[in-house]
Amino acid sequence: MSTKTYMQPAAYQSLPGGPLDVDRSFYDQLATAQRTLTHQFELPIRSGQAWEVPAGSIVRIEAVDGPQVGDLNMWNLHNRRERFWAARTRQLQRSSMGTYDRFWSTLPYLRPLATVVADSLADHPDAAVLHDLLGTRCDPYVNRMLADVDFDQHCHSNLTRAIHPYGLTEFDVHDVLNVFQFAGLNENNEYFMDTCPTQPGDHFEFFAEVDLLCALSTCPGGDLSVHMWGPDAASTEEQLEHCHPLKVQVFSVDEEALAGWSQPQPAQYQGQNGRHGMNST
Ligand code: ZN
Repeated sequence: MSTKTYMQPAAYQSLPGGPLDVDRSFYDQLATAQRTLTHQFELPIRSGQAWEVPAGSIVRIEAVDGPQVGDLNMWNLHNRRERFWAARTRQLQRSSMGTYDRFWSTLPYLRPLATVVADSLADHPDAAVLHDLLGTRCDPYVNRMLADVDFDQHCHSNLTRAIHPYGLTEFDVHDVLNVFQFAGLNENNEYFMDTCPTQPGDHFEFFAEVDLLCALSTCPGGDLSVHMWGPDAASTEEQLEHCHPLKVQVFSVDEEALAGWSQPQPAQYQGQNGRHGMNST
């Protein structure tokens, strides 16, 4: 397949003052404002945890002992039908996430659930393909199909167990943001993954625009540097050497820094998809 670089402009343009425009100075100020730690935990390797985040808080995901990918899901805490919409988010912005990018929610809501306020990898030479939005979580069904073995610690399963206490099931697990993941499309337009480049202390922070339920999985692939199955599969022992925990912290932000901010409202479309007068059967 020949390599060609497409120069067409982005389909969805962010225009000054428009709905996709982000007040960068506001989020810059938030990122450095006085903050107070309200909740934290360390997520062990190959596991998942869910936690609540009050609107107006900042969440920090941090690499601790070594490089590690984290698969992130996000819901409106009060309405789990409203959740992160990875596909639309990558259309409205790009195929990875960075500072000032937003986590857009599903229909019929369509609003920013959260906004990225800090990314220690922003100046990395491969920043354009870090924090991947193209791929989704690893799961036991694809594993069974391709490797013919059962494995219960894929991100889909870790997230499923994490949200169980909230009355949610695997039907609620959705396409993730792959935090710290190095991935993109190669010259043949095929999806590739490469070794996660994070060092201890590297972090990714987002501001909760509404009350959130978040869930994170420490991917069993760890830093994605070795194969978990197939002819090149590493031994379990070797795989585990590439797995590390992630630290999650939630901070409340100084009130003054939130001056002028209000929770985004759902999109105002009122057309009911043209189904006025239709029977509900
Ligand atoms: Zn995974």
